[in-house]
Amino acid sequence: MLYNYGSINIDHVYRVPHLVRPGETLASHAHSVGLGGKGANQSLALARAGGQVTHWGNLNVRDRWARDLLADAGVKVGHVNEIDGPSGHAIIQVDDQAENSILLFPGANHIYGRNDLNKLIADTASGDWLLLQNECSGLADAIELAHEAGLKIAFNPAPMSDAVRELPLQYCDLLFVNKGEAAWLAGVAEDVSAQQLLDALDVQLPGCQLVLTLGGEGAWYQHDGQRHFQPALPVKAVDTTAAGDTFIGYYLAAMQEEADIPACLALAATAAALGVQRSGAADSIPFRAEVDDALN
Ligand code: ADP
Repeated sequence: MLYNYGSINIDHVYRVPHLVRPGETLASHAHSVGLGGKGANQSLALARAGGQVTHWGNLNVRDRWARDLLADAGVKVGHVNEIDGPSGHAIIQVDDQAENSILLFPGANHIYGRNDLNKLIADTASGDWLLLQNECSGLADAIELAHEAGLKIAFNPAPMSDAVRELPLQYCDLLFVNKGEAAWLAGVAEDVSAQQLLDALDVQLPGCQLVLTLGGEGAWYQHDGQRHFQPALPVKAVDTTAAGDTFIGYYLAAMQEEADIPACLALAATAAALGVQRSGAADSIPFRAEVDDALN
């Protein structure tokens, strides 16, 4: 089984002529509300890929629709709790050049501490996977407790923050990073080669499988002397929000099917390439049948 202790955000997207400047009041010409949050996106991608995932998280009782959306896709939501406090949410501005800026309020994603995580992990079995991103509280506890319980840990340290360096990352079995995250973690400049990034991370996290995504330049896998490159599909990107989340969800679903590494990468890259041709976060995540069609 795979558990995802992950953020659930309500995304408010405002279309604006330009991003709001300090002191300015600006009228938006379109507004939409959708499901977002790296955790929810990754669970949704996993389920749409046909994978098995149990989501752990919290949201406000009025945002039950978001939990229903996950459940309808096949995500197990028995441990997605409704609380009285505000859900995690994001105020997203997108301008006419497709530039964006995001204001995030963690809300319900930041209420769990060690005791809550201990209870959740008590229900897992050794050998299960725990997937984590960097939008929820108690990550150090989650990693330590999961490690003690014999779980395998997949971590996507996004969005990157100083606190990530303090986490017990030596217990991670699988790391998903984009270029900026990899450079930040490895403490090197972003303009070094992918190979240098991977080698620096390998020294830091020996034994951890590394998946480095490079946007339109593809993705690398490196572990234990094994290395694979997956080119990105040549598509016209409209909105790359959730590209990484789609990639991760599909990669993990392929892993559950015991696909080999090149097949996991190919499925993930194909799904992400379909996703970047559509707007939105959760809304842009493709279904498995579309991905299989594009792959064949
Ligand atoms: P993140 O969204 O976490 O920053 P990336 O931007 O590295 O992640 O994108 C993740 C994956 O999505 C890439 O490895 C690639 O497979 C796919 N992808 C992203 N941008 C594009 C693009 N412009 N064209 C095709 N595929 C893309």
